[in-house]
Amino acid sequence: GGTALALEVTDLTAGYGPVRALREVSVEVPEGAVVTVLGGNGAGKSTLLRAISRTLPFHGGAVTGGTVRFGGRPLDGLATDRVVAAGVSQVPEGRQVFARMTVEDNLRAGTLGARGDRAAKAAALRRVHELFPVLAERARQQAGLLSGGEQQMLAVGRALMASPRLLLLDEPSLGLAPLMAARIADTVREINAQGTAVLLVEQNAALALRLASRAYVLEVGRVTLSGPAAELAASDEIRRRYLGVA
Ligand code: ATP
Repeated sequence: GGTALALEVTDLTAGYGPVRALREVSVEVPEGAVVTVLGGNGAGKSTLLRAISRTLPFHGGAVTGGTVRFGGRPLDGLATDRVVAAGVSQVPEGRQVFARMTVEDNLRAGTLGARGDRAAKAAALRRVHELFPVLAERARQQAGLLSGGEQQMLAVGRALMASPRLLLLDEPSLGLAPLMAARIADTVREINAQGTAVLLVEQNAALALRLASRAYVLEVGRVTLSGPAAELAASDEIRRRYLGVA
């Protein structure tokens, strides 16, 4: 048989009132894979992740067509916490850590809606601390006092507290210095090596294509190109438009 699919998005249409942000978008993430969605500003990348995690209504948007299946089960119509319980966690654009809460309480917030008992949550916390030792060192510090890179680590750590089988990552490198972006990329690789599939939205196409095995290009709400990441990275059009190579 073929590769088992973790996530199957079919003909998804979504928007904000009159704004159609996604038009019949289909995206697949095989079990255990890293898949990236590239695209410029306003292409619909964040909307796609919000539609999958069902957080779109909190942004004033709605899904108006298509389906999202995870592990063969439809996620359509589920509340966000049920999506988390099903094994899908999102790291939102701009981190959105709770600035006035401690690092520790931010991580604890990530277990809301998560499946698993106390022991599972304790194991998740150990794993997050192993991935990001700084989050253990700064456990009692206010999250708002962390650097941008550390806040990104916290946002990823918070999502991992739910022990997801699929991580939705929205622009993890945004606003970070190249060295810090590379460190975040390394941890994405490590998280994936530990068995979590990743759907990565990035404007940094070079970084994303190095991490992913497959890639999609989204333009004004439509998928215009998809294929193996190495193939896209070699394509003249991708090199010109997204990798800044003349
Ligand atoms: P960016 O990298 O700039 O976030 P993106 O590819 O993630 O871009 P989206 O944020 O998904 O794109 O936006 C897709 C379209 O939906 C754009 O036209 C945008 O202006 C619009 N949009 C996004 N969020 C909202 C919102 N909360 N209300 C109304 N329109 C929105």
